[in-house]
Amino acid sequence: MALKGIDIFKLTPKTNCKDCGQPTCMAFAMKVAQGTVQIEKCPHMSAEALDALGEATAPPMKSFRIGARDEEYALGGETVLFRHDKTFVSKPLFAISTAPDAADTTIAHACKIDYERIGERMCVELIYLEYSGDKAAFAEAAKKVSAAGRTLVLATTDADAAKEALAATSDGKPLLNGANPSNHETFAALALEYGVALGVTADNLDALYDTVREVEKAGVKDIVLDVGAISVKDAFANAVQIRRAALKSGDHSFGYPSIVNVSALAPGDARMQTALASVFILKYGSIIVMDGMSYAQALPLYGLRQNIFTDPQKPMTVEVGIYPINGADENSLCALTVDFALTYFIVSGEIERAGVPVNLLIPDAGGYSVLTAWAAGKLSAGSIAKFIKEEDIESKIKNRNLLIPGKVAVLKGELEESLPGWKIVVAPNEAVSLVKFLKEFKAA
Ligand code: SF4
Repeated sequence: MALKGIDIFKLTPKTNCKDCGQPTCMAFAMKVAQGTVQIEKCPHMSAEALDALGEATAPPMKSFRIGARDEEYALGGETVLFRHDKTFVSKPLFAISTAPDAADTTIAHACKIDYERIGERMCVELIYLEYSGDKAAFAEAAKKVSAAGRTLVLATTDADAAKEALAATSDGKPLLNGANPSNHETFAALALEYGVALGVTADNLDALYDTVREVEKAGVKDIVLDVGAISVKDAFANAVQIRRAALKSGDHSFGYPSIVNVSALAPGDARMQTALASVFILKYGSIIVMDGMSYAQALPLYGLRQNIFTDPQKPMTVEVGIYPINGADENSLCALTVDFALTYFIVSGEIERAGVPVNLLIPDAGGYSVLTAWAAGKLSAGSIAKFIKEEDIESKIKNRNLLIPGKVAVLKGELEESLPGWKIVVAPNEAVSLVKFLKEFKAA
């Protein structure tokens, strides 16, 4: 049960030394009780006090990583049920399922989806390798997936097959998914021996809970909960109940990330799998397993994931400054837009497509889109002139053509007054028209 601030305060040294960054031990205790500060921030707690507080002050959901090196991914660590309460922290990972004999094709298929959206890499993070009865083929396919730089989920309930595959790939930190009420002892031992996270499944939530308790007792710390694939209704209800039990009731045995196999919930139906994947992005799927991932599926799913798993209180921005595009130098023209990341990536992408060297100027516009920034007073002739002065742009760039977004054409007159010597040019309203505009502008 969660401790109150006063209970935690009783166990602090009560010296008010401020080493934890809080003004008093009482303030520290209140923050720990709220879950906003970790108990370890006080370096003077006795071992007895830490033991007493350890479980009660632990975060409601465990956070850990799977994969290795460049392909390492965070799971768990959520503290709220709803994104509007605070923010979600670990984005769901997408996995493509494969049989061992189709591993080469699946790896090639997975590698086709790899692009950047608003500064974030969008790719199929995991390969879900399903055991089909041939241990050697399973281990061989696991090796191929690891060699291709993809993180593995080893899906098997056969301990011997799991051991062979782990022996071949454990340095890639795969997830071993296959512990159940009848094999959990062996699988817990394997997870500990190879230092990997363990996926646990059962026919119902009671059995899942009991199995997790056993696996915890065996010493496994990194656990993933399989919400099951009996029906869509059950999988959804399980995902929600597990997360509510962890975050609302503080039940640590359900305080782990989850795995949802939508390829098993809607076999062979790519559209239904896409619809289900979108549901489980919103409702608590930490790993979502699908049959495949085409661009038609990836664009809406990754876009939704990115929208949900960003902090709504922090605008997505890019750094203020000068961005030379297409080899722009001091003689290249300047174009200005705002620091809202989505606007920046769209505008810079269109400039790249035009192939015209442009110095893209990004002032501090509060992380808003062009019109919103203008309406909020964050993008004005005064703020642009101040930015040009503070960034010392006139000594860095000789070209005195400045393109401004068509949506703030109203700033042209004021800018001409604020920036003597500059030619202010109104660019199109929409970024998509920039390619034609820039090519014609360059030719003129
Ligand atoms: S570091 Fe520990 S002893 Fe010092 S003020 Fe913080 S809680 Fe109190």
